[in-house]
Amino acid sequence: MTPDHGPLLYEGKAKRVFSSDQANMVFVEFKNDTTAFNSLKRAELENKGRLNCQISACLFELLEKEGVPTHYQALAAENWMMVELVEVIPLEVVLRNVAAGSLCKQTPIAEGTVLSPALFDLYFKDDNLGDPLLTEDRLERMGLVTVEQRRHIEKLARRVNTVLTSFLERLDLTLVDFKLELGFNQAGALVVADEISPDTCRLWDMRITDPQDRILDKDRFRKDLGGVVEAYGEIHKRVQEACSKPRNYN
Ligand code: UDP
Repeated sequence: MTPDHGPLLYEGKAKRVFSSDQANMVFVEFKNDTTAFNSLKRAELENKGRLNCQISACLFELLEKEGVPTHYQALAAENWMMVELVEVIPLEVVLRNVAAGSLCKQTPIAEGTVLSPALFDLYFKDDNLGDPLLTEDRLERMGLVTVEQRRHIEKLARRVNTVLTSFLERLDLTLVDFKLELGFNQAGALVVADEISPDTCRLWDMRITDPQDRILDKDRFRKDLGGVVEAYGEIHKRVQEACSKPRNYN
């Protein structure tokens, strides 16, 4: 089922954005397309869009309930949501609770090292530059955000981390790390945008000790471990069961 949307406004790697007939609201369609390593690796994974859309909807609802503002409005179909139109800041805001991925490639910190307090990393979202890691000084020189906005971004991201970590822990899932995109809505408020899904989070199954078998996120795709959609399905199942509200398509 496809909602009654207006023209395509933007197409990204994993989502399409369409206009709607409601002021300041747009539709987001979650695609099955999957990319990694700056799009060098690509695949289409059946059902991935639906799973990520519904997982994101649950997690956005959870954040809203906990007082964290997001762009999320409602599910519009199984792989569509309606969101508030926001001006996304071109930053990838990454919070790390356990060392993995690029942190272990770029530093001697061993995979699995617990990072407490969580490590807060900012990357400049620019495919042509390969999303470089930013220093505070570089960020300031680039003039993307003010010093005060940078502080606000960190506070919000740490709050998201606290809420998600404790929610996922109850589902026997370790939130290893995750990426957020933030934006300013029409009223000028900073809100969480984009998606929160196994495409953007590293999630390890606490019920499994094997370091490969426990991976339930996009690393299964990056590392050719197989069972990508099955892993996303497991996250979907656990998150959905814990999600308080019944799914509403409107
Ligand atoms: N991430 C993302 N999009 C990106 C880069 C990273 O969603 O373009 C997520 C990634 O899935 C992980 C976290 O951000 O949960 C930290 O990723 P990392 O810096 O370790 O990069 P990677 O190893 O994925 O290249």
